[in-house]
Amino acid sequence: MAITTTLAGRATSAELPRLIFGDRWDYDPAPESADPRIAPSYDLFIGGRFVPSAEGESFDSINPADEGVLTRIARANAADVDAAYAAADKAYARVWRKTSPRDRGKHLFRVSRLLQERAREFAVAESMDGGKPIRESRDFDLPMAAAHFFHYAGWADKFAYAVPGARVEPLGVVGQVIPWNFPLLMLAWKLAPALATGNCVVLKPAETTSVTAMKFAEILNEAEIPPGVVNIVTGGGETGRLVVNHPKAAKIAFTGSTEVGREIMRSSAGSGKKLTLELGGKAANIVFADAAMDQAVEGIINGIFFNQGHVCCAGSRLLVQETVAEEIIERLKHRLAVLRVGNPLDKNTDIGAINSRAQLDRIEELVADGEREGAAKYQPACALPERGWYYPPTLFTGVTQSHRIAREEIFGPVLSVLTFRTPEEALAKANNTCYGLSAGVWTEKGSLILKMARGLRAGVVWANTFNQFDPASPFGGYKESGFGREGGLQGIFEYVKTV
Ligand code: NAD
Repeated sequence: MAITTTLAGRATSAELPRLIFGDRWDYDPAPESADPRIAPSYDLFIGGRFVPSAEGESFDSINPADEGVLTRIARANAADVDAAYAAADKAYARVWRKTSPRDRGKHLFRVSRLLQERAREFAVAESMDGGKPIRESRDFDLPMAAAHFFHYAGWADKFAYAVPGARVEPLGVVGQVIPWNFPLLMLAWKLAPALATGNCVVLKPAETTSVTAMKFAEILNEAEIPPGVVNIVTGGGETGRLVVNHPKAAKIAFTGSTEVGREIMRSSAGSGKKLTLELGGKAANIVFADAAMDQAVEGIINGIFFNQGHVCCAGSRLLVQETVAEEIIERLKHRLAVLRVGNPLDKNTDIGAINSRAQLDRIEELVADGEREGAAKYQPACALPERGWYYPPTLFTGVTQSHRIAREEIFGPVLSVLTFRTPEEALAKANNTCYGLSAGVWTEKGSLILKMARGLRAGVVWANTFNQFDPASPFGGYKESGFGREGGLQGIFEYVKTV
């Protein structure tokens, strides 16, 4: 204790363990060892069966942690997507539409329960396929995915009463396309409300992260969801295009980049298809001088480094009140220095692998631009694994609003720090973006929280916290972050029509 007190006077928290225990201080590796039960290859899931693609095409799914091949995934072409829509159409007309709401709910409860039973296996598969730390897939992705099915199972026999005086009907067959950052969770956000309301689905996972979707197909069969109610077609952007442009789709639900969202909006214009778009973001995380500093620093770290920063609502623009900027930046630097980057399957890992080589290239390009435009880069000394795609936690100070790193979504572990003097200036800077998905406010003053929440053009505003999610709470964007809401009762309305 005496040693700690003496050393604490002159050492940073990052240096302290090394001063006490010497250079041998480190965590022992703590790898998660559950068997992810990943098959050597995955076919398409159409009409309740696994079927090869019509032309027998497939591609490698790579483990970003070591660049090894995890499995092979079928590539769906036009004939496969047609077959998936035909199966969904048939299941809708003959079975699912006629299944009582209570029975639909029972099926969804079963799905939720089965996911919980196989949570550990799914968490390992998710981390190996996508690169996220096992702690996150185990403690966030899997429980949240199961919670979504649980939540919407409860709605199945109740939502009809949510619109008094009107009859509420499903839309029919819906096409859903999801991204790679939360593969299973995005699947749950899409499937749970669509199925609870009586729709049938053709879903396309992202090409780099299809494994848990294909494993989920096994759960659909175990839960005895009738064949054809959910069909999963794998492939890249071309397969996605076939799914969203298919004439049998009554609705398209897309989560992904703003660029592709724009293309889908153009191609679906005039088609009569209902559309929801969950797109990119560049959230402001605003810290006032009176905020509880320790909590704010943890909130900033969680806001940007959760899931390697591959988060649409990541707090990637930190706005700090000028009087405390120096202190916050100093504390952040210390915190960055103790973040552990490495093997996603190690339970000590804070920042796992970057999902793909292409995403790593994009992060490197934007960081290089940040330096070129004059912002100051800080990266702690941090040994990265030799194989695999990794990027160290990065902090930019001296950022101005015109810098590319303050305007464009980096989708990586890179934080830009800007300063402000008054709440009005913070609001103006926070809203000076084409995005509007989320924001954070840190202050002890309740009235200031309310003023900021009213003024921020963002779908979600967190106060004295960040990245909080709940199936009952709607999530969605303003401006180029998209439209439509997922979660809660609002999420139900995206999948029904009133007659
Ligand atoms: P992306 O747009 O490249 O791909 C998303 C999905 O669309 C993938 O399945 C892809 O194969 C498919 N796709 C690609 N081109 C297509 C096309 N022309 N037509 C139809 N489908 C096509 O995005 P990404 O890189 O996979 O994901 C990252 C993006 O997703 C980020 O911008 C992130 O902010 C956003 N995102 C948003 C939310 C949200 O809720 N708003 C959640 C997660 C991710």
